[in-house]
Formats: sequence, C-alpha cells, structure tokens
Amino acid sequence: MRIRRLRTRIILFFVALLALVQIAALALVNLANLHNAHVKATDDLAVGERVFGRLVEQRAHELGQAARVLASDFAFREAVATGDAATINSALANHGSRIGAAGMLFVGPDGHVVGDTLTRSSVPRSFEYPALLESPPTRGSTIEWLGGRALQLVVAPVLSPLPIGWVVVGVPVDDGFARDLRQLTSLEVSFLLEDDAGRWRSLASTLPGTERQLLLDHMAKWPADAETDIVRAGGDDLQARMITLDRVGGGRVVAILDRSLANALASFEKLRATLITLAAASLLVSIGGSIAIAANITRPLSELAEAASRIEHGDYSEGGEVPRADEIGRLASSLNHMRAGISERETRILRLAYRDTLTDLANRSKFAEELAAAIDEAASSGTGVAILVMDLDRFKCVNDILGYSVGDHVLQEVGNQLLREAPDSACIARLGGDEFALLLRGAASMRAADTARAINKSLEQPILYRGQPLDVGASIGLARYPEHGHDASTLIRNADIAMYVAKRNRSGLAVYDPEYDSTQRQHLSLLSELRQAIDGKELRLHYQPKVSLSSGTVSAVEALLRWHHPQRGMVSPAEFIPFAEHTGYIKVLTRWVLEEAIRQCAEWLREGIRLQISVNISARDLMNRDLPEAISELLRLHGVAPALLCLEITESGFMEDPAHAQKVLDRLHALGLKLSIDDYGTGYSSLSYIMKLPVQELKIDRSFISRMVADSDISTIVRSTIDLGHSLGLNVVAEGVEDLESWNLLARLGCDDVQGYYMSPPLEASALKSWIRDYHGRAAAEPASGNEARRVS
Ligand code: C2E
Ligand code: CA
Ligand code: CA
Repeated sequence: MRIRRLRTRIILFFVALLALVQIAALALVNLANLHNAHVKATDDLAVGERVFGRLVEQRAHELGQAARVLASDFAFREAVATGDAATINSALANHGSRIGAAGMLFVGPDGHVVGDTLTRSSVPRSFEYPALLESPPTRGSTIEWLGGRALQLVVAPVLSPLPIGWVVVGVPVDDGFARDLRQLTSLEVSFLLEDDAGRWRSLASTLPGTERQLLLDHMAKWPADAETDIVRAGGDDLQARMITLDRVGGGRVVAILDRSLANALASFEKLRATLITLAAASLLVSIGGSIAIAANITRPLSELAEAASRIEHGDYSEGGEVPRADEIGRLASSLNHMRAGISERETRILRLAYRDTLTDLANRSKFAEELAAAIDEAASSGTGVAILVMDLDRFKCVNDILGYSVGDHVLQEVGNQLLREAPDSACIARLGGDEFALLLRGAASMRAADTARAINKSLEQPILYRGQPLDVGASIGLARYPEHGHDASTLIRNADIAMYVAKRNRSGLAVYDPEYDSTQRQHLSLLSELRQAIDGKELRLHYQPKVSLSSGTVSAVEALLRWHHPQRGMVSPAEFIPFAEHTGYIKVLTRWVLEEAIRQCAEWLREGIRLQISVNISARDLMNRDLPEAISELLRLHGVAPALLCLEITESGFMEDPAHAQKVLDRLHALGLKLSIDDYGTGYSSLSYIMKLPVQELKIDRSFISRMVADSDISTIVRSTIDLGHSLGLNVVAEGVEDLESWNLLARLGCDDVQGYYMSPPLEASALKSWIRDYHGRAAAEPASGNEARRVS
C-alpha cells in the first residue's frame, strides 16, 4: 500500500525512526544491565564465599580452641596418662556439651579411639581418618562422615610434652548450621557429598525440598572447572557457587552457595520496567510531536494545494495566504505572485481574444458569444434580441486614397459615434474591416430601428481628420430574434444580407426579409450561369456612339456587355458585373469582351468603317500582369492599330493599388492604347494624382450630367471639371446626355464629346452601322445645324 499523504508519511517516518532508536537503546541498556546484574550476582556470591570461608574457619578456630583447652586440661591429661577411659569419656562429654559439639573423640597415640561421645561404643577401633592426626587440615577443619552423620572435625594434640593422643571435636554439618551460615552470608547454603561412585547426596541445606532435589539433580551436569553455574528451577533460577571443602576421606564434600537469580535481577527488572515506561512515554510524545510538526508543514501545504487547484479552475480571486518567513511562506508568496501574474496575463489574453485593438470594441468572437448568451436568455425570459450589422459606404476610398492611418482614425471615430448613439446596455463590436455590429437586448431591441436611424444620422456628419472633412455614410442591416433566426450565426448572416440590401438600395437601413434569401440564392446560381454564358454564346456586345460636339461626327463607340439569359431574358451588366468582379470571374469576361471588341473593330475596318472602341476595364483587371501582353497579342492577331482601342477605368480602379496600377497603365500606354477615366467625380482622386497617370480622356459621370441643367452648382462642377481636363490636355467626355438642353449646355461649356440616349442607346453592331450611316447622312443634309442635337428616331 502506498501512503499518499505527506502528513502520514512524516508521522510514520518519525515514529518508526524513534521506535527503532528506542528499541535499540532499550536492548543495549537491557544487555548492559543484565550483564551488570550477573556480574553483581557473581560478585555477591564471591563475597558470600569469602564470608562463608571465614565463618567455617572461625568455627574451626573456636572448636580448635575448645579442643586445645581440653587437651591442655591437667585432669584430662592425667586421665590420658593413666589410661582412665571413664574420666576421659566424662571429660569429653562435659566439654562437648559445653561447646555444643555433636561428638568428642579421644584417639590414643596408636591411633585407637579411646573415648567417644559420638557412638558411645566401647568396641575398640582405629580412628577412621588417621591422616587428620598426622597433619592438621589447611583451614583447621575438615568435614567428614562419622557415626552416620556429617561433621566438621577439628583435631588438637594432647602434649606431655610429646603427643600422647588427640582430641577430635566434631560439630554437625546440618540444616541448622546451614541456616546460621545463611543468616550471615545472605545466601542459601547447601552441603553435598559426592561418593566415590560419583553419586551426590545432600548433607544439609537451607533450600526447600524441591529446590534441594533440583540442586542435587543438577550436580551431575555441573561443568567440570566452573566455580559458578545456573541451576534451572522453573521460573526462579538459582545462581550457584561451588566451594570444595577440605576432606581427607574418600569422595568429595562441597558447599553450594546460591541465590535466586530473580531476586538478584529484581532491581534490574524494576529499572527495565522504568526504562520501558520512559520509552513508551517518549514514543507517545514523539508521535504527538511529529503529528504537530507534520500538521505544521502539511496544513499550509494543503492550503497552498487548494489555492493552486483554485487557480487551475480559473479562480484567481484569492491566494493561499501563509504568514510565515520560512520556505513554505516563500512558496506561498511565490504562488501568490504566480496567481497575480496568471490572472493579469489571462485578462490580457482575454482582452486580446475578445477585443478589437484598434477601436477597443468587442471583436467578432466576443460578439458571437454575447449574442448566443443573449439568445439563450431571451429564450427563457420570452423577450427579444435585435442585432444591427453596419458597413461603411465609402471607407475603402478613404483607406486607399488617404492611407491607413486616416482609415484607422475614421474607424475609431465611428466606434466613438456608436458608443454615443447606442444604449448603454448594447454590446458594440467591430466585426472586421469597416464592418460593425450592435447587440440590443430586451426593451432596447424594440427600438433597434430608431437606434439604427440615429447612427445613420450621426454618420451623415463628415468625420474630421486634421480639419479635413471625410464623408463616410453607413448601411445598416437589422435582424431580430426570434423572427429572423434562432441562433447567433443565422442572425448575423441575415443582418448581413439586410445590410447588403441597404447598401444596394442606398436606403441606409434594411430590416431582414426572407425574400432577400432568394436574391442571395439567385446570386449563387448566377455564378454557374455566368460560366455557362460564354460557352452558350449568350453574351453580346452593344455599342454606344460617342459624338464629337464640335464636328458632330461619330469616331468612337463604347462597348457595353449584354447577356441574353435563356430564361431571364436580358440581364443588365449592373446586376452581374459587380458580382463577377467580386468572384474574380471578371477576368474571363474582360478577356471575352476585348476579343469580341477587337474582332468587331477589325471587321468594321474591313468594311471601311474606322471606329475607336472603348472597353470597360475593372479594377481587378489592372491587377492582372498579363493584361498588356494579352491585349497586344489580340491587336496583332486581328491587325488592329492600338490607337483604335481605348480602355475605360474607374477612379477606384486606379486606387486599389496605385503603385501597381501606375505600372500597368504605363505599359498599356506604351503599347499605344488610349486610356480614359470613367465615372469621373464619384471618387476621390486628387488632381495631383491624375496628373501622374498616362490618360488621355476624362468621362464625367452621368449623375452630374443628368442634374446639371436643373442645378447650377452641379453645372459649375461640370464646367470646372471640363476646364480642369483641358488644362491637363485631356479629351473631356460627358456621358448620360439625355436631352437637348444638356447637349447645348455642354457645347457652351466646351465639352469635347457626348454620349447618351439623346443620340443613341447602345446598339448591336449591325444596328450601329445603319445608325451611323443615317446620322452622317442627316448631318450632311443639315449642315446649318451642325451643333444641334440629332436623335435617331
Ligand atoms: P458605364 O461604363 O458608365 O457605362 C455607361 C452606362 O450608361 C451603360 O449602362 C449605358 O447603357 C448607360 N447609358 C448610356 N447613355 C445613357 C443615358 O443617356 N442615360 C442613362 N441613364 N444611362 C445611359 P450599362 O450598359 O447598363 O452598363 C452599366 C455599367 O456596367 C457600365 O457603366 C460599366 O461600368 C459596366 N459595364 C458594362 N459593360 C462592361 C464591360 O464589358 N466590362 C466592364 N468591366 N464593365 C462593363
Ligand atoms: Ca464606361
Ligand atoms: Ca461611365
């Protein structure tokens, strides 16, 4: 089992360590104590032995003294000398009883027992232990078996002056003697006799019966040279010491001094118990201590772990405060710094992820998220949500012509305007480019259209950049939940569709209508149908004549694309050209138009009609590096002079990428082609910029021409434009001339050429041929009114 908690591990480690140390110390102390106890017991026994020896010697000495007193007694010596056995015996008995001897003997010089109080037998016999008589024992006495009992024997010679006999005193070696010795030595005393056959018998002992027998049984096992040995006596072992006593008879007499080992070790056992108690107590204390230390370490750690896990779950609100100066305190403060750092970085990342850095408004993903949340809320509360998607109308021009920094300024200003006009609860976002969006919840969603109108109105005021007014209008699309969609992406898409409708209709605001979807779908099918158009020969070119105001002649035509759709009939270029530009398909269309126009030009040339053809070129076409090559190839192929081809390019066509456009225009010019600025006046091109371009013609947009008769301000603009064009050496053309008044006014203003329904609509090639014939024929017939309007009826 693995222990996972640090706290448990610390406690276990400390407790195990301490227990190990305690057990080792206890074992060592125990061992030393045991040794000491044994040594002390042995010492006690040795002391006992010495005391024992002294006591035995002392008794021998006392007995010897008593024997000598008797031996030197005059009456006794006389009785000995006279061989008076009766007197001897009575003296022996008297003396013996006085000194408490068990028996007194008198041995004659021949070794025969003369008097004997022990056996009291009158049968003559030799003394059993004659060796005693010849040399006295070393310790003054011996223990011998005499008269059926063990006796301590002492011998004293009777001198006259030579020895005439010996007095032998015997005191009993019995339990009483043993008890006396025990009293003085504090040891159990036993006397044992080993006979010649090696059998042991107990002479006397202080031990109780069972132990006495155990000792006897043990004697056979006593190691040969050992002074001491342990006698196993059940639980209460005996430590015993053997003292071999002097003996002259056969066999051996020993004294065994012993004491209970348990007694000897009793104080040690007490010490051991104390030690164990101490060890247990210190173990308990250490367990308590290690729990406290572990808690001290692990409590702040687990608080920190909790704090870290809060951080993991994105809660940066509070850190694990641990007010201490140690490593854990430092860890806590690092963790706190880390938390603050992560929180700050996350806020920054969230800001980057959810904010538009330029305007500081929400970005597209934030808007989508907010919208989804608002829809959820509205769904449960039964309220509504409205979104406005807004696109600036002329922002691209600002960006292209005046530069990105001005563009950025405009976007920021628009953002500020939105903040001013939108209700406080609205979420305002910049979706990208010049597209903005507003999210309106609850009551504010009901007034979404009013808000949109207020925004439109505020953007009618030009935005100022360093004092220069910039005119950027906006088109807004409105979509509502739940009417126009049930999820965020559908709502945004539908508001977007509505916004494009507003842009197309120049209405400023459009509320989404499911009808718009079909328009959208039509656009999709348009692309595939457009691809089909070229292969199916559904495309045609119509030509609109350009008439010279001064000479009244037709020397140029503008080629305009027509699409005869098999189902929809005639489709206006205004419907599919922007679409083709948007999808990039314009490249293919332009190539087809150029080919057809040049082919037609060549055909007319062959018929003797020399007409310059103007072809409209899109901004996208100018991005095509191969365009000059392709055109010169076509001209060469059909044998048409470059001067007969004029390319009409709108201002914005130059402005998309001015540097690149300039290069392509230079190359086209170098080929000998004519270049014309179409729809002049609707863009922002500055005079200084136009001066740099290799153009030869300026076409004033028909929105000016159609209003100039009625509006003197406009006619002033037209006049200055014509003058401007002339001052730059350009041919000035007015398009969209629909009536005589315009014709006359333009003639007065000195315009060079005119083009418009007043003269002729765009015509098929064959129709144009007859129109020109008629027109020139009439001009020839009415030379007087050369400057007047001529219309084909
Ligand atoms: P645009 O280049 O300004 O062409 C002149 C437009 O004015 C033509 O419309 C013409 O029919 C129309 N128009 C001529 N005289 C009058 C008049 O007196 N009054 C009015 N109201 N309109 C007049 P259209 O043919 O519908 O072409 C529209 C636009 O489509 C053109 O404007 C041009 O920008 C584009 N377009 C036409 N053909 C081509 C083409 O082959 N290639 C490219 N890139 N664009 C083309
Ligand atoms: Ca044109
Ligand atoms: Ca035009």
